[in-house]
Amino acid sequence: MNKEQGVKDCNALCVMRYGVKEKPLHPLFLFTALCTLITLLFSIPLDAADKAEIKNIRSWSSQGYTRVIIDLSQPVEFTKKRLSSPDRLYFDLKNSKIPREIQNNLPVGDGILKSVRAGQFDPDTVRIVLDLETMDDFNAYILDDPAKLVIDVNAKKPEKLVVTRRVVVLDPGHGGHDPGAVGKKGLQEKDVVLNVALKIKEILSKEPNIEVVLTRDRDVFIRLEERSLIALQKEADLFVSIHANASPNRGARGIETYLQNWTNEEEAIRVAARENYVSLKRMKEKMAQYKSDDLGKILSDLNRDYKRDESVALANYIQSSLYSNVARVHAKTVNLGVKQAMFFVLMGASMPPSILAEVSFVSNPEEERLLASDSYRGVIAKSIASGIKTYFSSSAPVQKVAVVKKGDRGNWDDLPRSADVHAKPSRASFAGR
Ligand SMILES: [Zn+2]
Repeated sequence: MNKEQGVKDCNALCVMRYGVKEKPLHPLFLFTALCTLITLLFSIPLDAADKAEIKNIRSWSSQGYTRVIIDLSQPVEFTKKRLSSPDRLYFDLKNSKIPREIQNNLPVGDGILKSVRAGQFDPDTVRIVLDLETMDDFNAYILDDPAKLVIDVNAKKPEKLVVTRRVVVLDPGHGGHDPGAVGKKGLQEKDVVLNVALKIKEILSKEPNIEVVLTRDRDVFIRLEERSLIALQKEADLFVSIHANASPNRGARGIETYLQNWTNEEEAIRVAARENYVSLKRMKEKMAQYKSDDLGKILSDLNRDYKRDESVALANYIQSSLYSNVARVHAKTVNLGVKQAMFFVLMGASMPPSILAEVSFVSNPEEERLLASDSYRGVIAKSIASGIKTYFSSSAPVQKVAVVKKGDRGNWDDLPRSADVHAKPSRASFAGR
């Protein structure tokens, strides 16, 4: 690199860095710029340069909603407040003024707002007042370009005029010549569950929108398929079958709630066999038959037909309500959780969300004594009623369950595990787990 080129490069760099700094500004240019600036400053009145001006006040009304727009010369800061007697909102726009020619009283009369008023509250503040007829809430914000204050006022939502009537079918198990489980002291399941169902009916009948239907209201035998038919004929919104548990193990105790689905759990199959009036051996034979036919299809039919998500939600609400309330009066109770098994009484292609509750063990001496008492039955009835009400008031199912994929055929290990339906850990388990 020669010396001359080095200087040239340096100059190029200097120009890049400092622009034309080396060239002094012409005095005439400076004078002209200064004059322009002064002229500009004095052409804008000092007042308007400082303060935002209200340009216009507008409003739109629609169903349940009113929008008020305050057009401004520039964005402002504002404060807002709601006052009562009479009910009104006001917004103080800081550093603002309202010209005399602006219409400062705008009647609205849409059922939400009576009117919008504006005025110079003090030399620096414009106050906008919205006189309210009925309001639920409001939102106010400044938009730029062009500047405006937007106030959205929402009306109180009208009371729901459409009343949804819910039909609950309660199914006290057994009856007539079928006593169900019988305790050591002779307490019969059929009497306990009928009494509990009648108590639930009494509680739920106080709800204006719930109609309760019982599959039996006296000591009479009704076949399992007739019970589910009642749910279908009444177009029930849910079906709750009420039972008391029994086990060859007298120490077995606690509460469990079932929904309709395939299971491999020995205890669940035993419970289903007893409630289905078949022997454990026959129940296993029937299941083996299902398995050899086309288990994958049966499982997907079960998922589709039994409104699984809703049934899981219903079972969880009832189980947790039962356990938490019973535990207060019977500390030794056990939360056996939400389980699944195949119950004939819950079968039917169009059944509503359905569960079967085993409220305590008649075979356990202590629980037999409790089940014989009116107060314990009252706690159980109240708990189930409360679970049903919670289910109705919840809009969506609480959790999803595993969906059985097509092609899952006869592989016992691929079946949905009981954990899929548990809200809380329980002692339920599948064979081989
Ligand atoms: Zn039973």
